Amino acid sequence: MKAIVDCNSFYCSCERLFRPHLDDKPVVVLSNNDGCIISRSDEAKQIGVEMAGPYFKAKPLIEKHNVATFSSNYNLYGDLSWRVMETLRTVVGKENVEVYSVDEAFLNLENFTNDDLYKVSLHIRETVEQWTGIKVSVGVAPTKVLSKVANHLAKKNKIATQCCVVLDTKEKINIALQKTPVGDVWGVGRQYANKLRDEWGIYDALQLQQLSEAFGKKHLGGVVGERLIRELKGIVSNEMEDELVNKNDCYYQNVWQPCYRY
Ligand SMILES: [Mg+2]
Repeated sequence: MKAIVDCNSFYCSCERLFRPHLDDKPVVVLSNNDGCIISRSDEAKQIGVEMAGPYFKAKPLIEKHNVATFSSNYNLYGDLSWRVMETLRTVVGKENVEVYSVDEAFLNLENFTNDDLYKVSLHIRETVEQWTGIKVSVGVAPTKVLSKVANHLAKKNKIATQCCVVLDTKEKINIALQKTPVGDVWGVGRQYANKLRDEWGIYDALQLQQLSEAFGKKHLGGVVGERLIRELKGIVSNEMEDELVNKNDCYYQNVWQPCYRY
């Protein structure tokens, strides 16, 4: 089984670390030159601050609700990212960690039995929080694409799931896929989501899973689409890649690049 560990509202969490009075207050972080909103705390999401929206447009809402607003500090985020990744390497072994972005890593959990996976996920979440102060969500499933689905659900229901969701049976996977709009599937962009909905009436990830691999290949970008369908069916098609252990590796150098994902 594989896990994806994803930091919750990563940039906002980094800013909050040194300002605990903001823990339950709305927080946003702005891109270079304060142009756009690139990270929002749950409280900021709840009052309707939009992701990647221009700051000037959101300003009235931000002022009305007294949202704490920060310019981005990529040195800080890079440093905390490093600590989170090091913690994960300590917990599951460095050969089992594949850093995916500044605030996300895939883990190989092959060494654990299925019965232990929820406990392992909780342990990972708690250890990262204890050692770094950063809250994370953990999604576990047979493939990377499905682990992303699990992570999404963990984030959406933080209290009920304790930020950990394990999809270890076909039934759980199918229920999860049914709850997931097709546009929320990892690798399905807005264009493909629109096309799937308008041309083929595919609204949720379960419908997408039931399509053939040939359909994926023909209509969803060739081999990438084929792999996507296979991963949704629970067949591993995106293998773990070599991790970026060295702090000088490209992803740390690119940490400054704003991206909606954080
Ligand atoms: Mg994140």
